[in-house]
Amino acid sequence: MAGGPLAGQRLDHRRRRAHWRGRLGTVVLVLAAGWGGSVPAAAEGIVDVLQRSQQQRLDWLTRREAPDPVASARIQASFDAVLAAAPTPVPARLRVVHGGEVLAETVLGQVIVADATLAALPEGERCFVLAHELGHVALAHWARMGELYAAHLPGEVMRFRTEAVAGLLGADASGLAHRQEHEADAYGLALLRRLGHGPQDALALFMRLGARPDTPTHPATRKRVARLRAVDGGEAAGAAGPAANGEPGAAGADPRLAPGTERPDAGTPAPR
Ligand SMILES: [Zn+2]
Repeated sequence: MAGGPLAGQRLDHRRRRAHWRGRLGTVVLVLAAGWGGSVPAAAEGIVDVLQRSQQQRLDWLTRREAPDPVASARIQASFDAVLAAAPTPVPARLRVVHGGEVLAETVLGQVIVADATLAALPEGERCFVLAHELGHVALAHWARMGELYAAHLPGEVMRFRTEAVAGLLGADASGLAHRQEHEADAYGLALLRRLGHGPQDALALFMRLGARPDTPTHPATRKRVARLRAVDGGEAAGAAGPAANGEPGAAGADPRLAPGTERPDAGTPAPR
């Protein structure tokens, strides 16, 4: 459905599960067992392979650019607001597509690709999605992930070597990806406050998307919500300045995440 309006509350079930499933805009973990179609070229380093894989994904995504100017404009306006609220300039740009697999993702470390259905969400939730993605860019997550891969696989990529380190690399990359998701959530939450929204918007989004289990790239929804509550509680205790991990400072008196009031995954069977 080419950029057609999709009521926020009526995201169909399959799409809702897909949103944020494997990635809300973080790296694609290209593990040694499968290069995602990117066969290493001669004398290619692992970062080159990752870059090429991401470029292929970006090319594929941008062939689906949203033809709906209203949806695109709405998302662009939110993105501009989020960008302006960032405490330091962030070299990110936005592309709006339709028929994507997730609400938004960050490709090549700086291109935020948003699905047109994002336009149908309430402003606060849309801003949280975009601010989360901006966090990935601002915190240089793609570069950090590349460094991790390069540390495991220095020099030229050769399959026999990648297979030897695949297990450890996968575990380390997954651990880093999870930390990056929490960092991006915290960054997004801080930006939300600067924009006059609050943590309830982040929670509303998680509830809308439904409970997700751990994946190689993303922590379970339950963990993300718990971490956001911890961040929120810490800031409520008086730390309005920048946090240690570089997320923007959060001033303002928005409602705090009230423990126990909203449980996106309470009573939900383990998702598939
Ligand atoms: Zn993310």
